[in-house]
Amino acid sequence: MSHVTHEVSNQATPLADVNLFSGNRALRDALRFHHPAYDETRFVQLGAEMGSAAMQAHARLANLHKPVLHSHDRVGRRIDQVEFHPSYHALLASALSHGLHGTPWSRPAGAHIERAAAFMLFTELEPSVLCPVSMTYAVTPALRANAGVFADWGSKLADTRYDPRFVSAAQKTSLTMGMGMTEKQGGSDVRANTTHAEFDTDTPWGRAYRITGHKWFFSAPMCDAHLVLAQTPAGLSCFFLPRLLPDGSLNALHIERLKDKLGNHANASSEVEFDGATAWLVGEEGRGIPQILAMGALTRLDCALGTAGLMRQALAIALHHTSERRAFGKRLIEQPLMKNVLADLAIESEAATALALRLARAIDRTENGRDAHEQVMRRVLTPIAKFWVCKRGSHFAQEAMECLGGNGYVEEQGEGIVARIYREMPLNSIWEGAANGGGAAAGAGAGEGRACGAGPPDRHRD
Ligand SMILES: Cc1cc2nc3c(=O)[nH]c(=O)nc-3n(C[C@H](O)[C@H](O)[C@H](O)COP(=O)(O)OP(=O)(O)OC[C@H]3O[C@@H](n4cnc5c(N)ncnc54)[C@H](O)[C@@H]3O)c2cc1C
Repeated sequence: MSHVTHEVSNQATPLADVNLFSGNRALRDALRFHHPAYDETRFVQLGAEMGSAAMQAHARLANLHKPVLHSHDRVGRRIDQVEFHPSYHALLASALSHGLHGTPWSRPAGAHIERAAAFMLFTELEPSVLCPVSMTYAVTPALRANAGVFADWGSKLADTRYDPRFVSAAQKTSLTMGMGMTEKQGGSDVRANTTHAEFDTDTPWGRAYRITGHKWFFSAPMCDAHLVLAQTPAGLSCFFLPRLLPDGSLNALHIERLKDKLGNHANASSEVEFDGATAWLVGEEGRGIPQILAMGALTRLDCALGTAGLMRQALAIALHHTSERRAFGKRLIEQPLMKNVLADLAIESEAATALALRLARAIDRTENGRDAHEQVMRRVLTPIAKFWVCKRGSHFAQEAMECLGGNGYVEEQGEGIVARIYREMPLNSIWEGAANGGGAAAGAGAGEGRACGAGPPDRHRD
């Protein structure tokens, strides 16, 4: 029998089985303000599910067991498939069941605001599986420019029954989509793209092309299709590129490698090559950047929502820990200097929530009508929220981590959630364009690439 050397005491309990919605006054107030008719019962249920120990276990496992690439099968045929832990699928199924992807496009006014609040709550559970969810939400306005594809895919991009099978779109209940812009020689400067498209034939989905080249970052490669940019004689153009062709055969998209990332471990981000892959033109030839940025402007909303959600999660853990841990004769939360830190974190978290939901309102109002004021707000707030909230995220996570002392720095098989948040935080700042290179530079003249923040594509440079 082992000898007992000491009792374990004064260690905070895990924060689990809490209702993430009921306890989040800033989110409840923002929802009530922007969309008084929201379905509160739905949110209370969602908050309970997102805060449950069972879902937290899925989040831990999905991050601990990173996706694995299988480029070839046992006998040498290309299969280009990524295998995920079952917990990844459980999380994605939950996200789709709550309509965090394409559902607002077919629902009445207010749906984008509800979806934004739900997205924020889900981020407090696990942010990386939301990458394909966000892209599937954002793709609809851009994809409408190919009426044939949209007629076949549109409703399935909003179907709430997650279908992980790697089979052709016609056989699936729901579909997900991603986007591929970034190449080795240029990410912010997308005009430097070298991937090129050659016209092949006219089809019921419009003009089909053969795409040759690569993408240096290509997240969620198991999505059913991606919008990609490629050069045509008229300039950069936007294409719909499915993983499987309508006849079920593998498109010539090869997954070369999965990125070995700092965080965002549950999500797969890949490097791909196109070897004459079949793709269909979306919009006009030569108008690819404004076309795909109709999508990029919406994923920037999700960058702000996602970081606001992570801030809230880090704050909640810091408040919980400091309420239970004692030092120098008091609970940490009662110590004056700690109160200052926690108050600063609380204010910043509430501000981020308010700003992100305000942006969601502008998007909702402009997608469900032509409100000139909200159009301006959408254009201005997208780069501001993406820049400011995301830029503050890493510093916020570090302060929250410090509230937990040494325990905050320890992961212990994924149980140290603040450490996971800390690794995740810088990402929203970088993707969809880092600040100076386009992510926040709408109208600021930062280069000729992704420097578009918000608003309809025809308002952008090009
Ligand atoms: C995990 C992960 C997943 C990703 N997934 C995808 C994906 O699915 N699809 C996709 O297309 N991309 C994806 N990206 C790529 C991401 O969008 C780019 O990394 C980002 O747009 C920046 O491009 P870059 O890496 O080429 O950096 P660069 O363009 O080389 O920029 C480097 C730095 O220079 C700055 N800079 C650029 N231009 C200027 C300027 N004119 N003035 C001043 N500063 C400037 C930038 O702000 C940045 O700080 C992903 C990235 C990550 C990390």
